[in-house]
Amino acid sequence: MSKTPRKDPKENPALWSAATKQVRGGISRSAFGETAEALYLTQGFVYDTAEEADALFAGETQGFVYSRYANPTVRMFEERLALIEGAELCKTTASGMAAVATSLIGLLQAGDHIVAPRAMFGSCRWVITQYLPRFGVEATTVDGTDLDAWKAAIRPNTKAVFLETPANPLLEIIDIAAVAQIARAVGAKVVVDNVFATPIFQKPFTLGADVVVYSATKHIDGGGRVLGGAILGEAQLLEDSYKDFLRHTGPALSPFNAWVMLKGLETLELRVRRQAETAALLADRLADHKQTARVLYPHRKDHPQYEIAKRQMSTGSTLIAIDVGTRERAFAFLNALELVDISNNLGDAKSLITHPSTTTHRAFTEEDRLAIGLTDGFVRLSVGLEGPEDLWRDLERALNGL
Ligand SMILES: *Cc1c(COP(=O)(O)O)cnc(C)c1O
Repeated sequence: MSKTPRKDPKENPALWSAATKQVRGGISRSAFGETAEALYLTQGFVYDTAEEADALFAGETQGFVYSRYANPTVRMFEERLALIEGAELCKTTASGMAAVATSLIGLLQAGDHIVAPRAMFGSCRWVITQYLPRFGVEATTVDGTDLDAWKAAIRPNTKAVFLETPANPLLEIIDIAAVAQIARAVGAKVVVDNVFATPIFQKPFTLGADVVVYSATKHIDGGGRVLGGAILGEAQLLEDSYKDFLRHTGPALSPFNAWVMLKGLETLELRVRRQAETAALLADRLADHKQTARVLYPHRKDHPQYEIAKRQMSTGSTLIAIDVGTRERAFAFLNALELVDISNNLGDAKSLITHPSTTTHRAFTEEDRLAIGLTDGFVRLSVGLEGPEDLWRDLERALNGL
């Protein structure tokens, strides 16, 4: 039995607050009128007539034809995330790295040049410095905090700049508006990996970004369950630069993963605000503890790019970098924790801690690690949703044992 679903709200969803967009954005109910978003586990779609299929494939009518191209559950997730980000369009991928790689491959061709900071998620760095050059795209890496270095690196054939801020793992902050201005002077597109800031704490489009990418695996899922990625931007740019590549190479997001993440988005703001509040509290206490040499947290006054962080982010994020001096002390600290888990992931409801120089940034040469200030004493803490005092007792006890 089916019924005609209640009509969609008449108000423009773009006018809703973030909270309402997260719960209501992009809903497309089936004839059954289900409350929760439906999970369409289907590869294909059927047509009433051969003429209908003909018209769909000719692009004369709109509809779903194959889940490598589009799927109703995936579409709901894309529309919801686009609304939250304030983007015209969102295209999703099977992982964050598929989103990053697609966001660059779609903009670049042989003979082009790209500029990116030295401090980056390891796989993003690999795509830019190892993979793209194989196809004739030259890459220059710079100290992302040095605007003169960005200016000097830009060439007439620079077609894209890529940046991640706060950057993994030391939470270096890059001035998005200033870099966007430099890039625009030569018509280069600005791609921002906004994972660490989340769609809630930083709005790259308002600062001049052309494309925003996410690993939805992190805060958007928020429960450490599934992989996913997203590319957001103006509809025309996404159609021109990414649509064909995505259709024909197939890094499509699974409808199941999209469904998990749709439900993740419902609580995104609640979760990340709470996580960032706890992170700010823990960062201050960690900095005051005699066993830490240095604590990096973007909204602490002693962060090297504090002023920029205050200007472009509404909180200091859910991550903290902590220097405890040496690799031996870092390992002892991690091993002594009972509540916080040792894991390289981030953005989870569970607090996770990692030693970047032996895990996520292992592929960097020692020289490259030192160039971004990543010494063996550093650990990176992703703050979860546990009670702040429980987390502090765990961290303090582990530090006291050093
Ligand atoms: C995790 C991460 C990625 C890659 O995402 P996956 O979903 O793991 O492929 C890219 N950029 C940043 C900043 C990340 O933290």
